Amino acid sequence: MDYNKLAELLFPNIDKDIDYYEALYPKRDLPEGARVTRLGPSPTGFIHLGNLYGALADERLAHRSGGVFFLRIEDTDNKREVEGAVDVLINSLKYFNISFDEGATADGEVGIYGPYRQRQRKEIYQTFAKHLTKKGLCYPCFCSEEENEARRKAQEEIKANPGYYGKWATCRNLSYEEIEKRINAGEKYVLRFKASENPTRTIEVKDEIRGTLKMPENEMNFVLLKSDGIPTYHFAHVVDDHLMRTTHVLRGEEWLATLPYHAQLFEALGFEMPIYCHTAVLMKMDNGVKRKLSKRKDPELGLDYYRGEGYLPEAVTEYLLTVLNSNFEDWRRENPDVPIEDFEFTTEKMSVSGALFDIDKLCDVSKNYLAKLDGKKVYDNLTAWAKECDGEYYARLTRDPEFTLKMINIGRGGDKPRKDIASWKQSKDFYSFFFDETFEYEDDFPQNVSEEDRREILKKYEEGYNHADVKEEWFPKVRLLAEELGFAPKPQLYKKNPDAYKGHVGDVSAVIRVALTGRMNAPDIWEIQQVLGEERTRERIKRAIEK
Ligand code: GLU
Repeated sequence: MDYNKLAELLFPNIDKDIDYYEALYPKRDLPEGARVTRLGPSPTGFIHLGNLYGALADERLAHRSGGVFFLRIEDTDNKREVEGAVDVLINSLKYFNISFDEGATADGEVGIYGPYRQRQRKEIYQTFAKHLTKKGLCYPCFCSEEENEARRKAQEEIKANPGYYGKWATCRNLSYEEIEKRINAGEKYVLRFKASENPTRTIEVKDEIRGTLKMPENEMNFVLLKSDGIPTYHFAHVVDDHLMRTTHVLRGEEWLATLPYHAQLFEALGFEMPIYCHTAVLMKMDNGVKRKLSKRKDPELGLDYYRGEGYLPEAVTEYLLTVLNSNFEDWRRENPDVPIEDFEFTTEKMSVSGALFDIDKLCDVSKNYLAKLDGKKVYDNLTAWAKECDGEYYARLTRDPEFTLKMINIGRGGDKPRKDIASWKQSKDFYSFFFDETFEYEDDFPQNVSEEDRREILKKYEEGYNHADVKEEWFPKVRLLAEELGFAPKPQLYKKNPDAYKGHVGDVSAVIRVALTGRMNAPDIWEIQQVLGEERTRERIKRAIEK
């Protein structure tokens, strides 16, 4: 067959050749070892943890090497497209401090390797398709839905691999005349790749996370262009990553199965293959069973979740790095105060099997992170979150900023800062006792103290209360009070001789703690009193006497 003639028949409007594009998108002038990575999301409007997980790895790999990280919108499937999705995507990632050097922006783009939206690259794909047609490496396929269905059934019956290959690839050998006749008759067709017919051959592809992968050579005559001339992912990403001069393609392991398609396509086009890095799928433990995170079942899969709950983006990033690189946690332990940018992020330390996402672990990481933050920074972030997500809480927090800051500063600083809060939403419950309108008795008074003793403790405590006492003066007074009322001033004394006492100073403190906070577990009583102020402290004690 005269393939040049076929190429003209299929692509009469394509007047450029591939050299034109090769020259238009020159090799990037970057230092040795610099990596060019990209994020290629579909604009479905749902931004998930996987996007952030991949973006973070891409961003670190590019920026640690002095390279470029760009955004390409993979919108070849317009059925799934949602308006404004690009804006949402960029903003969601920005919230997590991830920004792009180049690529699509909310209303345009930045960079000379564009367009960065695949639907705008139709002519480019068709130019490369025309080139493949001229080389006899692809062909039009007119098979209808019904024919495809019949083939699937026939393959199922004899347990053959499903797909368009070998003897099943019926349009592969159509004559030029036949093709011309069908096109002139207005028949719809897709463009298929003429795959190798030697599936017994093994190919090797180097994966930077997984090592050398050995796979049978592809025999599928997969689709390059759909009937509307829009490319499939397979074709689009190969052309794009070549022309955009991507050096490292980091993507989910769901693409491993079709990697042989891509390897063959790179070879057919005469392009050097970028280095693939297939990341492990994010999994979670569900009742002891490891499973993929699901959009339907797991709210934590959506990135919105973290913003809504008020997880500090830096803490989420910190946690994701522990999932992404197995040595991050050790590094963090040794370098508690160093910015994450200094961590040597590598693909070698990425997991090959399912990466386990554990929300409890995220909370731990987040608690550690927030515990180290300066009080003013907590105030600013907390109030910014509340302003956006919880107006009532915002009003409460900002009514008396000095009070709120003092409250936040309880247990902060020092060698062992308190780790009470994982997210701003959780902080609402945690801080609730500081505000009269949300204060309530969540716990009972200690059971081992009689009601009479409880009242007596509180009465005497209130009478002797001196708000000006420093911590060192305050606690000895509590000990004295305990002793006066028949409680051991030290727990050891009580343990040695339990019959001699009603209880010990710990029980007395517990009564005071519940009176002030409504809880058995709360931060340091003296500090709480200092934040509440004298009047409120006395009020709470009196209120508890009446209870
Ligand atoms: N659009 C593809 C996806 O969302 C991107 C895969 C890739 O990064 O190559 O899965």
